Amino acid sequence: MSNASRKVVVVGGGLTGLSAAFYIRNFYKERGWKPEITLVEKDKMLGGKIETLHKDGFVIEKGPDSFLARKTAMIDLAKELELDHELVSTNPEARKTYIVNKGRLHPMPSGLVLGVPTELGPFLKSGLVSWGGKLRALTDLIRPSRKSTEDESLGDFIERRLGAEVLSNMTEPLLAGIYAGDTYRLSLQSTFPQFGEMERKYGSLIKGMMTGKKPVETHTGTKKSTFLTFRQGLQSLIHALVHELDDVTQRVETEVRSIERIGERGYEVVLASGEVIPADDIVVTTPAFAAADLLRPLVDVSALDAINYVTVANVVLAFDRKDVSGQFDGSGFLVPRKEGRNITACTWTGVKWLHTSPEDKMLLRCYVGRSGDEQNVHLPDEALTELVRKDLRELMNITADPLFVEITRLPKSMPQYPVHHLQHIADFKARLDQTLPGVYVTGAAFDGVGLPDCIRQAKQLAGEMADKLPAETNE
Ligand SMILES: Cc1cc2nc3c(=O)[nH]c(=O)nc-3n(C[C@H](O)[C@H](O)[C@H](O)COP(=O)(O)OP(=O)(O)OC[C@H]3O[C@@H](n4cnc5c(N)ncnc54)[C@H](O)[C@@H]3O)c2cc1C
Repeated sequence: MSNASRKVVVVGGGLTGLSAAFYIRNFYKERGWKPEITLVEKDKMLGGKIETLHKDGFVIEKGPDSFLARKTAMIDLAKELELDHELVSTNPEARKTYIVNKGRLHPMPSGLVLGVPTELGPFLKSGLVSWGGKLRALTDLIRPSRKSTEDESLGDFIERRLGAEVLSNMTEPLLAGIYAGDTYRLSLQSTFPQFGEMERKYGSLIKGMMTGKKPVETHTGTKKSTFLTFRQGLQSLIHALVHELDDVTQRVETEVRSIERIGERGYEVVLASGEVIPADDIVVTTPAFAAADLLRPLVDVSALDAINYVTVANVVLAFDRKDVSGQFDGSGFLVPRKEGRNITACTWTGVKWLHTSPEDKMLLRCYVGRSGDEQNVHLPDEALTELVRKDLRELMNITADPLFVEITRLPKSMPQYPVHHLQHIADFKARLDQTLPGVYVTGAAFDGVGLPDCIRQAKQLAGEMADKLPAETNE
C-alpha cells in the first residue's frame, strides 16, 4: 500500500452520505489509497430522515420504518456492519392489508402485486372496484400495447392499461403512497420501469405481472417477509455506521454554504461559518433543492430544480390494547386520494411489527400529507391530532384517548421524480462530470427513494470513484 492520500468531502449525513463514506473508505483503501474523508451534516444528528425514538417500551420510527427485503443493498450493509442478527420480519399473521372505499375498509384482494391484479378470482370478487371497472381492467389482456420506450406518467400508464377506477381505488393508494405523490406527475420510468417493460414484452401488464411473480425470500431464506427492519429501530444502522466510521471526520451542526473551484482539479467546500475544507472529490447527498443551491453558480441545475418535494407528517398514537376494540387482523390500511380523508394510510404497527410495542399496548402510525394536499401537516399539534383521530373514529371506531401522541413533521421530504427524470438526470450528471470533475450527486433525489436504493446508489458511486483513481498512487 503506497498510502497516497485523497481528500473527500461528503455533504449530508443521511443514509446515503454515511453509506457513501463507508464504501468510499473501503474501496479507496482496497486500491492502495488513503482517503481523508470529512462528512458534513447540517443537523445536530446524523441519519437524515432516519430517527428512532424509544419511549415507554415502544420502538417508534419518526421517519422511515422498514425496507424492502428483495433490494439487498441494505441487508448486505447490515452484514458488513455485523448487524444482520438484529433484522426482524413482519408478523406473519398480519399479512392482510385493507384499502378504504366509500368510508369502509376492504381487504386488498390476494394477488394484487404493486396494485396490479395477478389473480383473477380474488380481483373479480373484490368490493373495491365496480363490475364496469373490473371489465375495463381485463381489457388490458387484449388491448394493443405501446411499443415506444418514451417516458410517460405512472397515472397515464395505469389508466391506459387498467382504467381510471382500478387506478384510483387500488393502484394509486399503493404506489403513490410510497412517494406521497400524484401519479399523473410521477415518471413511470423512474418509479416502476418494470411496468413499461412488461407491456412491451407481454403486450399486457396483468400477463407480465403474472409471469414475473416470484415468491419473496428473506435473508434467512426460511420465512418470507416483504419488509424488514431492525429490532431496536432503523437508527441502529446509523449508530453502527457512525461507530464504524471512526476514521472519518464527522461534523454535525455544520452547514455547507458553497463549493469553490480551485485550479484545474481541486475544490474548496465553504461552510456557513466561513471555514474552508479542501477537497479532491465532493459527494453531495443532500435533497435536490439543497444540492441545486450549492451547484447553481457552477453548472446548470434545471434538472435538480424540476424535482419537487412533498411535505408529510407521521402521527403515531399509542393505546392500551384493551381500549381499542377494533379488529387488527392485518398490517393496516391505505386511503385513496378520492376518499378525501386527512390520513393517507395507517399502519397497525403494534401488530405488523411485534417488537415495537408491549403486549398489552397498541401502536398506530398514521400518515398525513401528499402531493397537492399538504396544508394539514402545518396545523398545530392538537388540531392535527384531532383530524387523525376523527378518521380513526370514522373508519375504525376508535374513540379511546391515546396514551400519548408523537408527531413528526418532515418538510419537503418526499422527492417527486417528474416525467423524463431519468434522461434529465443522466444529462445533468454528464454535464457535472465535464464541468466539475470529481463533484458528484447521489441519493434519494436520483435513482430510488427507498433506503436500500440510497445505499445501492452510494455504493455504486463509490465504486465508480475508486475506478477513476489514478493508477499511480505515489503522489
Ligand atoms: C415520512 C417518510 C417515510 C419513509 N418511509 C420509508 C420506508 O419505510 N422505507 C424506505 O425504504 N424509505 C422510506 N422513506 C424514504 C427514505 O427515508 C429516504 O429516501 C432516505 O432516508 C433518504 O436518505 P438520504 O441520505 O438520501 O437523504 P436525507 O436523509 O434527506 O439526508 C440528507 C442530509 O443532508 C443534510 N443537508 C442538507 N443540506 C445540507 C447542507 N447545505 N450542508 C450539510 N448538510 C446538509 C440534511 O440535513 C440531511 O441530513 C421515507 C421517507 C419519508 C420522508
